[in-house]
Amino acid sequence: MSLLTWFDPWRSPICTCPPKLTFNPYTGCDHKCVYCYASSYIPQFYECHPKKDLLQRLKREAVRLKGELISISNSSDPYPTMEAETGLTRRCLEILAKCNCRIQIITKSNIVLRDIDLLKQVPSMVALTITTDDEETAKTLEPHAPPPSERLKTAEKLVAEGIPVAVRIDPIIPYVNENPEALVKAIAQIGVGHITASTYKVKADNWQRLNLAMPKTAEKLKPLYFEKGEKIGRYTYLPKSLRLKLMENLAKLAKRYGLKFATCREGLKGLNTATCDGSWLIKPTRNRP
Ligand code: SF4
Repeated sequence: MSLLTWFDPWRSPICTCPPKLTFNPYTGCDHKCVYCYASSYIPQFYECHPKKDLLQRLKREAVRLKGELISISNSSDPYPTMEAETGLTRRCLEILAKCNCRIQIITKSNIVLRDIDLLKQVPSMVALTITTDDEETAKTLEPHAPPPSERLKTAEKLVAEGIPVAVRIDPIIPYVNENPEALVKAIAQIGVGHITASTYKVKADNWQRLNLAMPKTAEKLKPLYFEKGEKIGRYTYLPKSLRLKLMENLAKLAKRYGLKFATCREGLKGLNTATCDGSWLIKPTRNRP
């Protein structure tokens, strides 16, 4: 099986991502986010481990690249805790930087800063997920990921080094992080160019975790999802009217602070002011040395 495969999230007809390859150096992820979607289709998801024969396989596949955009990673984080020791994602980037491709990193981790030198050698951008600027909420929702303050500092350093940054405020959960004006303002001040937002979608296992982590919130969310919500693919969504209201609010905030905005898997592409995943930020040539 190939390591570099075309990104096709569950053949979702409401995915508006541009054509791109997806690459996960690791299987699973140890950030242990309550709302994680990937955990529902990868067994023992939180027992993170590198892909078998990762570097040999990547070397074989990467020589065939012809300028494709590679998204790293969509079903895990390329910077789990062990990456600080293994350096495997770094070695993958060393291989890719010598090949004909463009790179989009999707992460919650400040370890990405270690690889700025490589990200400068190839057209690239980083999409940092910052779900909330509230440290306590983040600790509950993403218990093993770096805190939001660390992620904001990471965004700031990347921008200062000339690496374009988008922020994913994802997922938006009613009663938890639905009006992130202070976060959007902070992101804009740092020089981030784009926000991607998406509402929380229920899967059986993430709902179970949410009930354990935030029982009072889960009680309030129950009717929104299970009485008024809608089933799209294998997910239970909030009712469309509420999703529209939440995403319109984010779109307004983005506009107020001069950021491009897009929704992710919402069926609301009319709100998008740029390519949904922020990959439009990638410059055609390598980043500033
Ligand atoms: S960082 Fe992403 S892949 Fe890892 S647990 Fe959180 S949501 Fe899942």
